[in-house]
Amino acid sequence: MTGLDLAINNGTVVNADGTARVHVGVRGGRIAVLSDRPLEANRQLDASGLLVLPGAIDCHVHFLLKQGQGETAVVTEDDYVSGPVSAARGGVTTFIDFALHPRDTPPSEFMAQRIDLASQGSCIDFAFHAGILDPRGAVLEELPKIVDMGIPSFKFFVTYRKWGFAVDLGFLNAAMTRIHELGGIACLHAEQDEILEWRRTEHAGQQDLIYHSLTRPDFTEEIAVYEAVVLARETGCALYIVHLSTAKALAVIRRARAEGIPVTTETCPHYLAFDHDVYRRPDGVLFTMTPPLRPPGNCAPLWEGLADGSISVLSSDHNAVGRRVKESKPHFLDVAPGLSGSGTLLPFAYSEGVSRGRLTLPRMVEVTSTAPARIYRLAHKGAVRVGYDADFAILDPEADYIVRVADLDCPAGYTVFEGQRFRGRISHTIVRGKFVVENGMFVGRSGYGRFIARPARALAAAEPERETGH
Ligand SMILES: [Zn+2]
Repeated sequence: MTGLDLAINNGTVVNADGTARVHVGVRGGRIAVLSDRPLEANRQLDASGLLVLPGAIDCHVHFLLKQGQGETAVVTEDDYVSGPVSAARGGVTTFIDFALHPRDTPPSEFMAQRIDLASQGSCIDFAFHAGILDPRGAVLEELPKIVDMGIPSFKFFVTYRKWGFAVDLGFLNAAMTRIHELGGIACLHAEQDEILEWRRTEHAGQQDLIYHSLTRPDFTEEIAVYEAVVLARETGCALYIVHLSTAKALAVIRRARAEGIPVTTETCPHYLAFDHDVYRRPDGVLFTMTPPLRPPGNCAPLWEGLADGSISVLSSDHNAVGRRVKESKPHFLDVAPGLSGSGTLLPFAYSEGVSRGRLTLPRMVEVTSTAPARIYRLAHKGAVRVGYDADFAILDPEADYIVRVADLDCPAGYTVFEGQRFRGRISHTIVRGKFVVENGMFVGRSGYGRFIARPARALAAAEPERETGH
């Protein structure tokens, strides 16, 4: 076949349904041919010994996030230029950002501003979820406008009442009813706020950082997930629980899915890698996020859920709160939650998942690319398939290295994986046929990334649901 822009020869292509030794030809930003013979092209990449993966889709990031309201609000260290660069270094070719509108800006107006900012800034493709923080009935009139902008997924909090983020169940029920009519998806940060606020008040005099976990017990997630699952059953609305962190809430998800309730969930590398004992370390403050790291005994069940299909997605919840910001207010009541992680998402999934035998290679591709594309309706993404966007993460499975923040373009100035030995490194990241990372070096261009408008209804089933479910 002639006239190809790019050929990726001699690699092992991995899809959610299996691996194959095929050569990949790209034309006009799309995958034009998969061949059993090496291909000629204007540009050829010899991927001998490398894995050719569909680019990771990190469907949970916060770039340029303002946490809180007014003077005390904390802003993340990255924006729509630097955040996507760090993500691309780790093989992410598309991100979905949770844009949380300030109280004085209508959500639709805020989403338009964010699409503009990311269009000017991002080196990789992107989409948005619309955070809905203002629980007034009039805000429901915003929802169809936002769906029409190509944003059919909405994020709600039932915690962070103190920041003005939380909505009550009355509003959530009404919103999910409306979102279901519109064909959209409701995403939920699930922690039962009253219990944890009570505990935070009760233990306010404690100095130990472990109280970040002890005041947010695991059953607060279980209760909030259960309530939301009931609303999903009653409204029929597709529900996606963000950053699931406990075995107890996972059990609720499994039961709900077995009953046919339309709920899916994700977890994040930090919940798989660490338990709350790290809060006793001198650098424990760097590990603060919400939900918190959990007591020992939760990581293994989450790995099992990710492997068996009960957990559909692995995302980063990238939220680059800087080291200095965290260290300036280290008390558990004040510390700014959140950590960067988009750049380590896929390397973590390979190193700690595949190379340690917890995930198969196809399952890793499913949870980092194919499932987020399917659940969030990113057409032509999430697989190495003819006609799909030529988005690739190329991974050297033999690379063996110590994780160093200096190698990550990590805006927050630290990584929780600092000093750990990882196996498997991203050598190239390609978005619609263009190299964004080449031999580990960033070569992309700010503003190259495109906003992906997503449809209100699920994409026509290009591939069967592969999840086994439980
Ligand atoms: Zn988040």
